Amino acid sequence: MTTGLQPDSPVSRISGLSARDLQALQAAGVENVRQLLRRLPRRYEDRSSMLPIHLIQDGDTVCARVHVFSAGWRFSYKRYFEASVGTVDDPHGARIYLRWFNMPYVSRLLATGMNLSIYGKARTYGGKMTIANPDFEVMDDEDAGHRLMEAAMGGTLMPPVEGQEVTPIHTGRIVPIYKGLPGMAARTYRSIVWKTLQQLAPDLPAPGYDVAPAYPYWQAVRDIHFPAAEELHRKARLRFALAECFEQQFRVAWRRRRVQGRPGQVTATCSAYMEEMLEMLPFALTQAQLRCVEEIRQDMASDRQMNRLLQGDVGSGKTLVALCAMLLAVGSGKIAAMIAPTQILAEQHYRNFCKLLQHTDVKVSLRTADHVDDTGLVLDAGERDDSPRIIVGTHALLYKKHRPHNLGLAVVDEQHKFGVEQREQFIASGVNPDVLVMTATPIPRTLTLTLYGDLEVSIIDELPANRGEIVTALRNPANMKRIISFMSKEMDAGRQIYIVSPLVEESETKKQASATAELNRWRELFPEHRIGLLHGRLKAEDKDAVMQAFQKGRLDILVATTVVEVGVDVPNANIMIINDADSFGLSQLHQLRGRIGRGEHKSYCILLSSAKPGEPGREKLEVLCRTLNGFEIAEEDFKLRGPGDVLGTAQSGLGSVEFTEWLGDMRLIHRANKEASAILDADPELKKPQHAPLRLLVQFDSDEGITC
Ligand code: ADP
Ligand code: MG
Repeated sequence: MTTGLQPDSPVSRISGLSARDLQALQAAGVENVRQLLRRLPRRYEDRSSMLPIHLIQDGDTVCARVHVFSAGWRFSYKRYFEASVGTVDDPHGARIYLRWFNMPYVSRLLATGMNLSIYGKARTYGGKMTIANPDFEVMDDEDAGHRLMEAAMGGTLMPPVEGQEVTPIHTGRIVPIYKGLPGMAARTYRSIVWKTLQQLAPDLPAPGYDVAPAYPYWQAVRDIHFPAAEELHRKARLRFALAECFEQQFRVAWRRRRVQGRPGQVTATCSAYMEEMLEMLPFALTQAQLRCVEEIRQDMASDRQMNRLLQGDVGSGKTLVALCAMLLAVGSGKIAAMIAPTQILAEQHYRNFCKLLQHTDVKVSLRTADHVDDTGLVLDAGERDDSPRIIVGTHALLYKKHRPHNLGLAVVDEQHKFGVEQREQFIASGVNPDVLVMTATPIPRTLTLTLYGDLEVSIIDELPANRGEIVTALRNPANMKRIISFMSKEMDAGRQIYIVSPLVEESETKKQASATAELNRWRELFPEHRIGLLHGRLKAEDKDAVMQAFQKGRLDILVATTVVEVGVDVPNANIMIINDADSFGLSQLHQLRGRIGRGEHKSYCILLSSAKPGEPGREKLEVLCRTLNGFEIAEEDFKLRGPGDVLGTAQSGLGSVEFTEWLGDMRLIHRANKEASAILDADPELKKPQHAPLRLLVQFDSDEGITC
């Protein structure tokens, strides 16, 4: 007698597996019991309601318990194995016929006199009720075949051994449907899972910290694979979701506590630079911007480290608020750094800041992989330069050796492109700089709590008043003629146009080719106009040149990939044509659309798509036409795609997102949050032995051990 399977047991220890099954499992990367059980059913089929044979009608999907009255090979246009089945005590004497095509092994499994549980779709053929290739199980114990054989040889039919009741797993119950493994039948995989669950060691502890001991972990594992009732697999999923959500919230709560207590620098003691810059702006900050600047100022002026999230819709003016914060830090004699997700964006911020600060004493430096400094000045390695300074860069700035000394404030732009860990690197760097994180687009409220729950939040909930109207229209590419004449008219009036294409070719050379083909296509349509091409594979200086040309109005049309998605700012461009719009995500489309409507001109976002109403991809386009509100769009996007897709697993810092379909559920987050806080209130340093798994959970989140 073995002691039973452990989560770490290799699949070879599961008894009752054939060598072929083992091989198929291992080839698919399923090496141990844990991995096997983590492959969850994609869906379930309720095969539990048994239908009496005489009530079965043509077209019914049936599940039934039957007795085999006769079985054998038949020939018509094809050879098949047929069993005539019914119920022993059926007064109607009704029969149905089970037929298996191309499944010779069935003949070896079935014999007259057996009891089966069957599942399949009934059809009448030549007046007979038949089921082709039904799923079936022999309901007699394993020895039934042997005993039948004995009986057939003239012996007596022995009664089955007491207590050898067979539990059906493919029929007669709620049956799990798994994603297939190459080289393995679906029902084989199902039986392997079943066998594994039968062989698990009793009293296995729940892995990690158990948030819901009242519903034992391993019971939930059983319920999710073979639920005895419809609601049980949902209950099990909810339990796992809670556990996952709890881990997430626990990390956040832990970080929040660490960070809140952490001393920081006192800056924002002098607002002279900021005021100087604001005075030179041709417009005033909106009320919402002013409020956010004030919230940030107070935070920076305190002696605790600032950890704040700045959220605002596309075009709400987050950059300017961030610049104000940076100037406040500079005003206190510190360096402020802004880190952008892409080179293009870093360069744009750089130019933008240079322009805004040209009449002040504040210097601006650029640090990207391609470009180390306008002044040739290296600020690290102990070199000092006392002039007030702002540094703009890409993530190269994150690494310790590039990190400027005397850093007072780090602004992380478009945070979701990075991830929680990178933010941590700043937060935990030696000098405890204040940290301001900006999101590219608003994110759903539940995700704000989940991903940024350790940050204070400032929201710019108002757009500058001078914005032109944006009209969004969904058009079929078949109607290009009208669109083209509309584009010509707008360009004649001096406007500029973005044309965005998905360009999804796998290889780089193909990508290049399709970008060029796209460019040529538009050149043919608009031979009189100046057209530029911008895509991610261009060399940095070429990108820069194209972008500058467009910004300065030397190009009428910019054909681009999604590199224009983030932050690019050309107020005179008022039309955006998006090819194959349905192939983009909703938030991405909103972000793209945010590139227009930045000047005083009425703007047009034209979504080209041949998706018809009800087709996939159509709904998000309709959402986009309906609203310009980024917060609303974020919630819709979340509903349509789920959080894993909205943020991307790796970027979101969510780790496993198997159960995050539940993350839309505020109650779950609150529940997990409460639980996490209660534990940390009672045991702030996690010294109690029962909290050891939690220590493990957060050990990488402590000051010393930042992972990157
Ligand atoms: P986002 O929030 O998308 O990053 P930006 O910061 O890029 O938005 O700002 C978009 C544009 O709006 C920029 O051209 C900026 O100069 C302008 N802007 C910012 N604040 C105001 C304001 N209060 N009034 C008018 N224009 C503004
Ligand atoms: Mg921005």
